[in-house]
Amino acid sequence: MVLHIPTLQLVCVFVFCLMGLLSIHAWLRETRERSLAYLGSMMLLAAAGMLLTGLRGLGIDVVPLVLANVLLLLSAGMNWTAMRVFAGRLPHLPGLFAGAALWLLLCLVPAFYGSMSTRVSVYSALVTAYGVLTALEFWRSRRQLEVAYVPALLLTLLHTAFYAVRAFADKGLAFDNALSGSGQGVSFFSLMLFEAMLYVIGIAYVTLAMVKERAELRFKAAAFSDALTGVGNRRAFMTRGERSLLDSQRRGAGAALLLCDLDHFKRLNDTYGHQTGDQALIAFGQLALANLRPQDVFGRIGGEEFACLLPETDERQAVQVAERLRRGFSELAMLEPGLLSVSIGVVTTQDVGHDLSRLLSEADQALYTAKGKGRNRVQTRLRERCASSLC
Ligand code: GH3
Ligand code: MG
Ligand code: MG
Repeated sequence: MVLHIPTLQLVCVFVFCLMGLLSIHAWLRETRERSLAYLGSMMLLAAAGMLLTGLRGLGIDVVPLVLANVLLLLSAGMNWTAMRVFAGRLPHLPGLFAGAALWLLLCLVPAFYGSMSTRVSVYSALVTAYGVLTALEFWRSRRQLEVAYVPALLLTLLHTAFYAVRAFADKGLAFDNALSGSGQGVSFFSLMLFEAMLYVIGIAYVTLAMVKERAELRFKAAAFSDALTGVGNRRAFMTRGERSLLDSQRRGAGAALLLCDLDHFKRLNDTYGHQTGDQALIAFGQLALANLRPQDVFGRIGGEEFACLLPETDERQAVQVAERLRRGFSELAMLEPGLLSVSIGVVTTQDVGHDLSRLLSEADQALYTAKGKGRNRVQTRLRERCASSLC
């Protein structure tokens, strides 16, 4: 099969430009995802480099041999940077420019400049090195990425493997053959053009898919967290709480619910200002998170109301946890002693079953009793006794 290389190059330039501009457009719509800007730059640099490689035989060899490859190596560095930034790291500027700088230096050596096979091997080795760095970025961040990164990793590995093979197997393509496309069979160069097009289209698609997936995760996280305290909101508490209770029920295990309501909060706001009230809410959220286990479900379910669902916890243990919260809150140094307090209603699944709404409503009854008895106390449901040391 005879392939006309200049035509393939032109198609590459158009494909790279189109994908590059689309990536930049996607970045402008979602400027937080800077990786899309690097990805778009990678493609536009590749388009410019590819355009310049077509200028062979015009008596300005320095352009296709030096400048074009500098742009293409910058493009490879940009590809690495795009994935590095996507994985949450800062661009590594020396690394980004190292490949292009090395190429410029090597071009000063006549033996290198004059040997096509050496140039092809070194260029391919540099692209392989950037490919390995790109794959490592995914691998190092595999636990934090939270999105489907495997297609991007596989694509990168295939791209890298192609250049690793080329570094050893391709001896270059004589200029006449390149121009006419009349090399022996399909040359490595034309394969490289195909591979480059497929890689650019593939990586643009999978990166956009990852960006979209991450944006959805962010929206979901925002929809499930309380803006002031950063803890889960009512929706998060209900969703996770119901899931946890279902799990406990399936395993035949019990759970306990603590309903916490900060005392005289309106008075606190009126006396010390809304900002102080906000600080108290944040402080309670942090105190609770520090005192709960990872499997416990905690959230701010109302203005100054918080709830904790504690799996595999009986009433005695639940009262201990509630006491710790009550005492910890009253001892916070942010205001004078006696100004901050919380009342907590405690119920268990042993009392009312594994229904979250029922648990909340029974805990509310216990809380009401705690308020009636003077606040700053922990109140269980059944025995109507005060478990607090202050009773
Ligand atoms: P009690 O001891 O009976 O619970 O009395 P309380 O004053 O705490 O209860 P009440 O329901 O009368 O008032 C709750 C207050 O919580 C009123 C509301 O302004 C305040 N509040 C609700 N959300 C926020 C918030 O996000 N920030 C601040 N600073 N205050 C809030
Ligand atoms: Mg309240
Ligand atoms: Mg209150």
